[in-house]
Amino acid sequence: MNTLLIRNATIINEGRSFTGSLLIENDRIAGISEGQSLPAGKNVRIIEAEGLWLLPGVIDEHVHFRDPGFPQKADFASESAAAVAGGVTSVMDMPNTKPQTVTLDLLEEKFRIAASKSMVNYSFWLGATAGNLEELKKADTARVCGIKVFMGSSTGNMLLDDPEILERVFAEAPLLVAVHAEDDRIIRENLKKYEEEFGINIPFPLHPEIRPAEACYHSTATAIDLARRHGTRLHILHLSTAEELELLEGNTPLQKKKITAEACIPHLWFSDEDYYRLGSRIKVNPAVKTAADRAALLQALIDDRLDTIATDHAPHAWQEKAKPYLLAPSGTPMIQHSLPVMLEHAREGDISVEKVVEKMCHAPAELFGIRERGFIREGYKADLVLVDPAAPWTVAKENILYKCSWSALEGTRLHARVTHTFVNGHLVYRNGQIDRSFRGEALTFDR
Ligand SMILES: [Zn+2]
Repeated sequence: MNTLLIRNATIINEGRSFTGSLLIENDRIAGISEGQSLPAGKNVRIIEAEGLWLLPGVIDEHVHFRDPGFPQKADFASESAAAVAGGVTSVMDMPNTKPQTVTLDLLEEKFRIAASKSMVNYSFWLGATAGNLEELKKADTARVCGIKVFMGSSTGNMLLDDPEILERVFAEAPLLVAVHAEDDRIIRENLKKYEEEFGINIPFPLHPEIRPAEACYHSTATAIDLARRHGTRLHILHLSTAEELELLEGNTPLQKKKITAEACIPHLWFSDEDYYRLGSRIKVNPAVKTAADRAALLQALIDDRLDTIATDHAPHAWQEKAKPYLLAPSGTPMIQHSLPVMLEHAREGDISVEKVVEKMCHAPAELFGIRERGFIREGYKADLVLVDPAAPWTVAKENILYKCSWSALEGTRLHARVTHTFVNGHLVYRNGQIDRSFRGEALTFDR
């Protein structure tokens, strides 16, 4: 039996912080004690965690691991290794792979890929197309996290903006529907205007003007209207503007909400000013908006209009990203850095550590109905992270684990460092060492 005692950690869970100890037996949390340590029996490995924070493992509901189809960008092995180094223990992977995840057979192929390569637990989004609604209805709701609808075109060209088809998907979807909401018509017009002026070399700081707040608001409002009319369980991905937040409400408990929304790290960390410095590295869709938008997003997490924090981890090979604006794909890798970045916000007083844990660990588990994960509770799966909150480090090429080997955060100093990550009770990551032989499990959902 695998028995492990984590002693004298600061346990941060369900809105509280306390000094305590936690016992892992096999893949589960077998005991939690506050104050006095649990007794260490024979053959129990002990981790002295004084000064460290113990959190539930991060659940990242929005990643693009690019597998199958884009080995030059990423694959499940490389990106799940980066995930455990960042304290992430479960991921939900998006359908814009090659082939796109739009049939149940292709979905099963992704489960096989993850089972053979992933160091974290996993589930997959099914993509909605103009013609696959009947297929979507056959999805196993205990294994599939949800249905992704690209109401704005982005990497992988899965745009679905035919009003009639959207009505049907919202009316008949058997699962939660997640949307990328950006109005493609507004974007195309802007793009045309700037292309006439600059050709392919549009300056990157114009990205938020090509993909403006207006495009987000318009599409988000459309999605909410559709969901209200059809009673759809809607989840709006990567909110990026203050205006859209006015369409959301924070007073309903998460369990009762029919419409929920996600914030992503690029919009919570960068601002439009950063396009002058970082250019293509933060060419993401939706675009990063102003510092005022960023402050509004943080406030909306605090007052619960926004429900979850994810990464939209979207790696590209540097040769692709280094191209001129019009040819450079959108997306930036983030999964190794999301927790340290949010703990940096907490250190600066922008949000509490307890709220970060709620939005990155608890809320995704609750929102999707993930079975036995996302909380530090006796009997739950032992997906856990130890963090040293006072171990400053700088993001640099030599400590980046993404297959693409770059990050928009290079040169950024962060104070919190992940020291240990446990997936299903197994110590997968420890101070830079990764057990690459370990494999995670498929997530299961109670709905
Ligand atoms: Zn995405």
